[in-house]
Amino acid sequence: MSVLDVQELKAYCAKCKKIVEGDHDCSGRHIVLADSALVGIVDRLYNLGLEPMMGMFGFTNDANKTYTLKMSLILCKYITFEVLGPLPPGWQYYWNNGKLYSLEFTDWKSCLGSDDAEARLTEVIREFEEFLDEKDVEGIRSLLLIAGW
Ligand SMILES: [Zn+2]
Repeated sequence: MSVLDVQELKAYCAKCKKIVEGDHDCSGRHIVLADSALVGIVDRLYNLGLEPMMGMFGFTNDANKTYTLKMSLILCKYITFEVLGPLPPGWQYYWNNGKLYSLEFTDWKSCLGSDDAEARLTEVIREFEEFLDEKDVEGIRSLLLIAGW
């Protein structure tokens, strides 16, 4: 399947670290709807205590047949501060009524076709995983704990 096609979101259990189908014993807060390409990011967010709810990406297509990557990671925790500090280029915090709703990526460069798009997707995912790997897991977890979340 091409990365330019509509992506299929799967139910992924971040606790068991696997795609789940049908009944699953874990609480719903561990289940993330995500494209399988984003599981590495989902695992890292979960590990930081951020409780991701959904992870998806897509390419917008313009008349010049170029494709621009967008990515969205929806969180379900009530967080009111920039918990990850300054984000890498292209990434933004998205707030809804003062609550951190999601982390959004909009690419500043566009891709020329399927191969280019796939390479760009892999690159952006890897860079964001590396960014998350550098975060202090215990520090962030205790920040969330102190804040009461
Ligand atoms: Zn599970």
